[in-house]
Amino acid sequence: MDQTSPFALDIPSPAYICPFDQACSYLDAAAKELKLGQGVSEILSHPRKVVTVSIPVKRDNGEIQVLAGHRVQHSDILGPYKGGIRFHPAVTLREVSALAMLMTWKCALLGIPYGGAKGGIAINPKNYSISELERISRRYISELIKDIGPSVDIPAPDMGTSAREMAWMMDTYSVNMGHAVPGVVTGKPLSIGGSLGREMATGRGVMIIVREALADRGKSLAGTRIAIQGFGNVGAAAAELLHQAGAKIIAVSTGAGGVFAENGLDILELQAYARENNRKISGFPQAKPITNTELLTLPCDVLIPAALENQITQENVNQIQANLIVEAANGPVTLEANQALEARGVTVLPDILSNAGGVVVSYLEWVQGLSYLFWDEQRVNGEMESLMVQAYRKVMHQSQTRKISPRLAAYVLGVGRVAQALNDRGLYP
Ligand code: NAD
Repeated sequence: MDQTSPFALDIPSPAYICPFDQACSYLDAAAKELKLGQGVSEILSHPRKVVTVSIPVKRDNGEIQVLAGHRVQHSDILGPYKGGIRFHPAVTLREVSALAMLMTWKCALLGIPYGGAKGGIAINPKNYSISELERISRRYISELIKDIGPSVDIPAPDMGTSAREMAWMMDTYSVNMGHAVPGVVTGKPLSIGGSLGREMATGRGVMIIVREALADRGKSLAGTRIAIQGFGNVGAAAAELLHQAGAKIIAVSTGAGGVFAENGLDILELQAYARENNRKISGFPQAKPITNTELLTLPCDVLIPAALENQITQENVNQIQANLIVEAANGPVTLEANQALEARGVTVLPDILSNAGGVVVSYLEWVQGLSYLFWDEQRVNGEMESLMVQAYRKVMHQSQTRKISPRLAAYVLGVGRVAQALNDRGLYP
């Protein structure tokens, strides 16, 4: 098969860090801590269903391109599959499978009745027009029509997708069903049953976790120096809320590089600048340019990686100066780097806790839709905050009583809940 084909086997280079292997290592560590039987670990280390579909898309110039679209359903032991859809050039089946597994533990940790799934297409959305993106989104969902649904599998936005793609996907599903089915996706626009508070939810959850972790150290957000990698949906919302709470956001970045200000950036002005400059932040007045590599190793109190996975690795871990790392992205710290940070006494608050605000408000959106009763933003934010704080407290309690890292504690709670449900449901046949 042609190696450029989307279906070519991705043969990893020696430097490749396999996200699925990493996810399984965390599962193994939790299974060991929980003394789970071999059968339970074996079941949980395999996704229940893996679907790869072919997406023929007509480009605006008339050419036909065939893309590969993945959807991995890891577990529905606790409820319908739930997970985002990512449009990013680095999407692979391994990555989607790892992210689907993380979703299972995240939902279980937060106590919401969902299983875990993830989807993705390996494209750079910037290389496609809006009408091409609409055709891709619609064909992808139409190929998956039998595998999704409000009580089966509920997609949501992730990197490279937003409420716009969710609206196209909801419409495609609904047209095929013959009636409106808003509950098939979350992260939708408000006009079709989206929830107030969803857009900022993941960033707000990150802010809550940073605030709680600082409070445990006798500190407050006011004056705390924070560097944030990524200025998209999650990074920009976290930056805005942390800035409003008095923290000093000394640096933020996008894939094209970042900006730094020793005394803190005015995030609202930076957002206005980015809006006027086609999402670019470079050239922002009152700030110096900074590379992503430099941003990660800045002297600061809190580091928030909010872009991609595998950003803090064996290569740069010894240069990291923050004492607290809050994983807003999924998998930004590799297994080895995590071990090195733990050995140095750096606290890493894991993705399955720190970025769970998005799936919590997705759940609240789904609940509002199913009950045909919509809440004001204050109620949505309050319910989310309560679930986030409870999860944080449970993780820290497990970490202290078992004398394990917050990451392992979070996995122990998430994996433990799924394992208990698996045990109670039993194995069919
Ligand atoms: P996004 O596409 O809105 O933003 C991603 C940001 O990362 C952009 O600013 C982009 O420029 C930047 N970026 C891309 N490549 C980079 C690179 N090589 N170096 C530095 N920055 C780079 O995506 P998002 O929705 O904000 O998601 C970010 C992360 O958070 C992902 O890991 C995603 O899985 C995770 N996450 C998102 C949500 C959500 O609700 N959107 C929920 C949970 C977890």
